[in-house]
Amino acid sequence: MTTAHTLGFPRIGAQRELKFAQEAFWRGDITEATLRETGSELRARHWALQKQAGLDFVSVGDFAWYDQVLNTLALLGALPGRFGFNAKELSLSDYYVAARGNPQHFAMEMTKWFDTNYHYLVPEWTADTSFNGGVDWLFEELAEAQAQGHNSKVTLVGPLTLLYLGKIKSGLTHKLDLLPKIIPAYQRLLARLQEQGLDWVQIDEPILTLDLDAAWLDAFVFSYHALVLQSPKILLASYFETVQDRAALLQSLPVAGVHLDLVRAPQQLDSLLQNWPQGRVLSAGVIDGRNIWRADLSALAVKLQAAQEKLGEQLWLAPSCSLLHVPVDLAAETALDEETRSWLAFATQKLVEVSALKSALNGNATDVAQEFLLADQAVASRRQSVRIHNPIVQKRLAHITAQDAERQSQFAERIRAQQQRFALPQFPTTSIGSFPQTRTIRQARAAYKRGGLTHLDYLEAMRAEIRHVVQQQEKLDIDVLVHGEPERNDMVEYFGEQLWGYGFTLNGWVQSYGSRCVKPPFIYGDVYRPEAMTVTWSEYAQSLTAKPMKGMLTGPVTMLQWSFVRDDQPRETTALQIALALRDEVCDLEKAGIGMIQIDEPAFREGLPLKQRDWASYLDWAVRAFKLSSAGVHDDTQIHTHMCYSEFNDILPWIAAMDADVITIETSRSDMELLDGFGEFAYPNDIGPGVYDIHSPRVPKVSEMQRLLQKARSVIPDARLWVNPDCGLKTRDWPETIAALENMVQAAKLLRATI
Ligand code: GLN
Ligand code: ZN
Repeated sequence: MTTAHTLGFPRIGAQRELKFAQEAFWRGDITEATLRETGSELRARHWALQKQAGLDFVSVGDFAWYDQVLNTLALLGALPGRFGFNAKELSLSDYYVAARGNPQHFAMEMTKWFDTNYHYLVPEWTADTSFNGGVDWLFEELAEAQAQGHNSKVTLVGPLTLLYLGKIKSGLTHKLDLLPKIIPAYQRLLARLQEQGLDWVQIDEPILTLDLDAAWLDAFVFSYHALVLQSPKILLASYFETVQDRAALLQSLPVAGVHLDLVRAPQQLDSLLQNWPQGRVLSAGVIDGRNIWRADLSALAVKLQAAQEKLGEQLWLAPSCSLLHVPVDLAAETALDEETRSWLAFATQKLVEVSALKSALNGNATDVAQEFLLADQAVASRRQSVRIHNPIVQKRLAHITAQDAERQSQFAERIRAQQQRFALPQFPTTSIGSFPQTRTIRQARAAYKRGGLTHLDYLEAMRAEIRHVVQQQEKLDIDVLVHGEPERNDMVEYFGEQLWGYGFTLNGWVQSYGSRCVKPPFIYGDVYRPEAMTVTWSEYAQSLTAKPMKGMLTGPVTMLQWSFVRDDQPRETTALQIALALRDEVCDLEKAGIGMIQIDEPAFREGLPLKQRDWASYLDWAVRAFKLSSAGVHDDTQIHTHMCYSEFNDILPWIAAMDADVITIETSRSDMELLDGFGEFAYPNDIGPGVYDIHSPRVPKVSEMQRLLQKARSVIPDARLWVNPDCGLKTRDWPETIAALENMVQAAKLLRATI
């Protein structure tokens, strides 16, 4: 009999119960005991769902009070020593200090979990880091599941992935120097789980899919030989990419099972199957844990036949990765039309899919005939639906030429035309787009959405805000203005709502970090722009000033990256469709007299594939999509782009190839160090390196920004240097915004005076 399981389930709760409990605890509104109760309830509910769906195990250890990496550190007693916590008596308040900081301690750093939008807390490694054991939460959770009568599998972040994802803070030359300490710690942990009656432990080592050097690969051999000595059976889990190139290593490891992501890398099944070790479990990750589409169960059943014949009971079925990355339950989506709904499956539905597939493979197809029928219907409907397939878009895409992605002239010529048109002073000042999103703005937007504000009143409320933003910028004497983006709730959702092919959920929340959740839209069909999206706002804003007003759009790569995307066509195709829609918007803005248009691409870098060998092909189409969106304008229209957070040095040639006339980037927090690469490479177009951090309410001094500008000048020629903040100002308040911008303009003016 085939076994069905999941690598993990979202912990936030269908109504984001965990988020609200966490935040209430942080505010001091509930006690630690009450928060813990919420955690227990959620775990019990999620385990029950897994059991009801027909899974053979419930997943224990996927719950975390903030983040699974932080929970692992708490379990091992390896929280950064700088907090001075007692590892074994760590309270939830302590735990949250590590996650969020307090006046005495800065928080641990946070970064993206592989290529997902989930953020984990970065372990801090020093020579003193110890793994002498920490809290008993995991053992208690296992006991809970056992008491509830569940057959449990515990999931752990593996020791090598944990080491790899951390950062060396001091005293170590290599992260693997900690191996002699961390492996005994995991040994103790595994032995204890075994004593507690656990049969299977799933150890997640997603770094197996990355480009690893020999030292790391050898560490796998050493570590896993040591770990199996006294342990429940180990299912070694890889995901997000192929491990085909690790076949020999995997074969040599003494683990009882290996999980493969067959959604991201289906091709690895056949090749790995050829030399699959006798008796080893192969967990086939066939239900997409990173996307929201209903699976094609019939096709999967066929694809798995050979594996089943070969493996028999050793074939397990699962989602491709933890379901952490998808929303909890489609049942909450009461506003979706029936057709669209029939195409989707969220975490709860995916459990049922895994289980249905198991039944079919076990020869009980009639029991799950209804599930298969619905899946077949969804496949057929997606193949034919006119809401998905738009011949106008397809024809247009088929006919784009290389020329469509090129501006009329080279930058040198364009910038001359632009300088003539705009006659900006040297070191022109600008901002990134958004101005403070006050309560009033958010309330007006929400009221309009609810129907509580008439269209006219809404329009006037937004226009009043735009007037205010323009007036303030004129008073500040900023050179290139923005309208402030008051009408936008979110830079992707705002455009998605106006484009055909985009869908939205009421409650499709996915954990981003801690208590923060995002509700990504989903792209189900060919993307088409039925009418202009931003032109009236930009036109209005421009009518209020004689200075140039930047049009403001979200770029094709970011639109793609921050949405759930179609799985029935390559990402590239979807990106190019979005690019065409944006291209029309760009041209309409130009026609309406908007001379500068900014196309934001903050997610450009995060789209990079996990394996370096795939970078070039991604970057090529990502650049092409951006250029397609931006190249339809005349030479004297100035295209800006903006990126944040990014480390660019390794992809600079592609950033340059986007050929925006001006790029603004976040650099102040790195003390302009990010610019180093730009200098060596001689980035050819204009650059606005951010001169102040917008993440903090602190008002930077004129002298600080002068110093940063001087640093920038050592890399960027004066003629191409712009002056702007790091990013948009939507999270700031007005008083600090005015003060900071005043100082910024002052710094630019002082610099002009010295030339
Ligand atoms: N124009 C957007 C803003 O100013 C850019 C946001 C971003 O880069 N994430 O808010
Ligand atoms: Zn930004």
